[in-house]
Amino acid sequence: MLRIEKLNFAYGDLKVLWDVDLEVRQGEIVTVVGANGAGKSTILKNVSRLVRASSGSLRFNDVDLLRMASHEVVGLGIVQVPEGRRIFPEMTVLENLRMGSFVKATRKDRERNVERAFTLFPRLKEREKQLGGTMSGGEQQMLAIARGLMGNPKLLLLDEPSLGLSPLLVKNIFEIIKEINRQGTTILLVEQNVYQSLHVSSRAYVLETGRVVLSGTGAELLANAHVKKAFLGM
Ligand code: ATP
Repeated sequence: MLRIEKLNFAYGDLKVLWDVDLEVRQGEIVTVVGANGAGKSTILKNVSRLVRASSGSLRFNDVDLLRMASHEVVGLGIVQVPEGRRIFPEMTVLENLRMGSFVKATRKDRERNVERAFTLFPRLKEREKQLGGTMSGGEQQMLAIARGLMGNPKLLLLDEPSLGLSPLLVKNIFEIIKEINRQGTTILLVEQNVYQSLHVSSRAYVLETGRVVLSGTGAELLANAHVKKAFLGM
């Protein structure tokens, strides 16, 4: 579904990605794990075209993403949920959700998608009239994911969905990620919570200072000596 080959990227003089190869097949949950600053978010931003690679290849099914702008990528069904929530604080939960179906083609599904979001996140239903900015961190994270789903994504890009959440909510958010995937959405996830994310992943990549140093199934990487030492404190 998504094939990244030899992707190189720099912010000005700062080279961040080096020859990154990464593939996401239909139906998978694929995770990129790595330390702070490894370049994980930058991979997602290249896919959603918020930034533009200097060389390499980036294909979604048969479409060359390198030539596309970010609004065109959304039209293909690639939806990014950014790190740090970024919901609309002055709008209610329901209004925030409705903003997620801004692409014309998804408007006819708006009410059905709202219901789906409320089923996945009952907390949002209870708070549908509350202003986004007054929700807790965890609730805002749920709202950001739910809003992303309003765009009928084929490929959902999730940037650190568990960041800053309590252990109980972290568990909850990974359960929901699995459920979204089970309902048919392919997911590319970027996470610092290596243990939880490898548990839900079909496959994963380890990124170190902008290079893929390891890849395998979630189970393989959980059993890998380097992963255990570097990320799982074992
Ligand atoms: P984190 O988990 O801390 O978000 P990450 O692996 O997602 O880390 P990126 O956000 O991709 O890392 O950042 C990779 C490197 O690029 C970092 O050194 C960061 O400081 C730098 N960087 C990110 N965004 C910019 C920018 N807009 N301008 C300049 N440098 C940037």
